[in-house]
Amino acid sequence: MKYLQEFRDPELANNILSEIRAATTRNWAIMEVCGGQTHSIIRHGIDQLLPEEIELIHGPGCPVCVTPLELIDRALAIAAEPNVIFCSFGDMLRVPGSEKDLFRIKSEGGDVRTVYSPLDALKIAVDNPEKQVVFFGVGFETTAPANAMTVFQAKQQNVKNFSILVSHVLVPPAIQAIMESPVNRVQAFLAAGHVCSITGYAAYPPLAEKYKVPIVVTGFEPLDVLEGVRHAVVQLENGRAEVENAYQRVVNFDGNKSAQAMLADVFVTTDRAWRGIGVIPQSGWSLSEKYRDFDAEYKFDVRDIKTVESTLCHSGEVLQGLLKPHQCPAFGKECTPRFPLGATMVSSEGACAAYYNYGRFTASA
Ligand code: SF4
Repeated sequence: MKYLQEFRDPELANNILSEIRAATTRNWAIMEVCGGQTHSIIRHGIDQLLPEEIELIHGPGCPVCVTPLELIDRALAIAAEPNVIFCSFGDMLRVPGSEKDLFRIKSEGGDVRTVYSPLDALKIAVDNPEKQVVFFGVGFETTAPANAMTVFQAKQQNVKNFSILVSHVLVPPAIQAIMESPVNRVQAFLAAGHVCSITGYAAYPPLAEKYKVPIVVTGFEPLDVLEGVRHAVVQLENGRAEVENAYQRVVNFDGNKSAQAMLADVFVTTDRAWRGIGVIPQSGWSLSEKYRDFDAEYKFDVRDIKTVESTLCHSGEVLQGLLKPHQCPAFGKECTPRFPLGATMVSSEGACAAYYNYGRFTASA
């Protein structure tokens, strides 16, 4: 398949690996920020091909995984309302709330629908004016423009029975929180390429400078990841801490200005709780005052629903790179994709799901 196979070429991969081996003289811990990169690494065994001095730490870049439990519980409360059609991407349906998930609400009679775009949800609202239609808008900067555009269109078209439950989180504040953690081990970051395709990477040089940490904008195919690691290792070995773009076929410095303008119109930056991690200041978006009528949390008055997270699930430590999934006592026992205790075992970008699906049950697997 064009634009795919050439980024999985074994000969080119071996060439990059040789360069990484030649450059590596000591131990380095590098975090891939995005869960999509984690899945590529585990699926293709990239971590096992690297020199043993290089440790890849799996980061918090799985939006489903970091959506806080209380927001899942708010989604469940809204979806259980009799006059509501609750729309979501499929990966949220099995994320466990305190007692149920969206599939359970559906099995109990709730009108929960899987959609492939927020615009599908808006169309459902237009077609069902007697119902309230809610879209669960979860994601990093990558998915936010489509959600912003949908809310913008709903306002333009005066669709009063549409709203969105927003859980958007941002990468740069997460990098900052990781670097300021007293238990941080990360020495370089592979930044998420798709996020940077929207935002550009102007936000990263101040972080690289402040924390003396190399940040490499990196893609998702095996050669992309290896090239990101190579850039990071060369910087680390040479004592540099700069921002480099190893995903130039997709990302430029400024990003997508049209998308950024839409985001600035619809969203405002806000403090956000990250599941298992806690509140990170100014790390998310919520709807701006101008679009308050489309905010499901206000429309359904669910902001008082508060939830305490279970202590059984160690996903917070997994998401901060403090624990590998197979080191969680529940991994593959009480917690499996069929009976998940945490979102990281359910999401297509979750590190626990990657380890389970690709058979990493031990450190040597
Ligand atoms: S294996 Fe399950 S319980 Fe353990 S951290 Fe992952 S999701 Fe949570």
